[in-house]
Formats: sequence, structure tokens, C-alpha cells
Amino acid sequence: MALPPEVLERLRERLLRRRSELVSGTLDARRGIEMLETQERGQELEEGAQTAHASFVLQELSESQQREVLLIDEALARMDAGTYGICVDCGKPISEARLLAVPFAIRDAGCQSLAEADENALRRRPSL
Ligand SMILES: [Zn+2]
Repeated sequence: MALPPEVLERLRERLLRRRSELVSGTLDARRGIEMLETQERGQELEEGAQTAHASFVLQELSESQQREVLLIDEALARMDAGTYGICVDCGKPISEARLLAVPFAIRDAGCQSLAEADENALRRRPSL
């Protein structure tokens, strides 16, 4: 089952819009860090520590944004390759409702919850 072209087009537009939001947001975060680092010079020690914390938060934000940009790029590449909307694990079509909710989904809901359970199990392992 292929997605109707108008749905695919809507999803592509949504992905592209989200991507440009993320990219400009990442640039803003970088500018923020540079500003904080400039301010940090010549300040009291405790204020410097606060600044370090603020720039850590910004860094975290931009990392998760970068991950989302990667997911969006993969989704756009799958659209071009004609494999968009097909679960990478079981090869079945991902429901239109799920794609509208999560346009860069690479798995159907069932495979996604299995994959997340696997990830959580790995993270819980104390040796890692
Ligand atoms: Zn699946």
C-alpha cells in the first residue's frame, strides 16, 4: 500500500519546515553559547559556574535537535528512494495516522515499542 501522493507531499513539506526550524534553532543555541562564553571572561567565579551550566543546557538542546535533523534527512531520503512509510523492521506499511503524528517514523507502532524496549534494556545494563 503506497501513501496517497498528496499525503506524501504534505509530510514532505512538514519535514522540510521542521528541519529549517531546527537548523535555525541550533544556530541560535550556538550563538547563545558564544555570547555566554564571551560574558564569562572577567566575571566572578560563581557566576562563571552558572554560565557553564547554561551553556551545557544549550549544548544538550542542540544535540537532540541535531538527532532530529538526522531523522528528518533520513525520512526525506526514504521519500526519494520510494521506501518512505515502510517499517524498517517488518517491511509492513506504517499507518498514515502514525506518519502524520511522527513524520520521520521508521517503524510501525508495534516494532517501535519493541525497539524502545530493547534500547531501555541495554541502557539499564549496569556494565554499559
Ligand atoms: Zn514493523
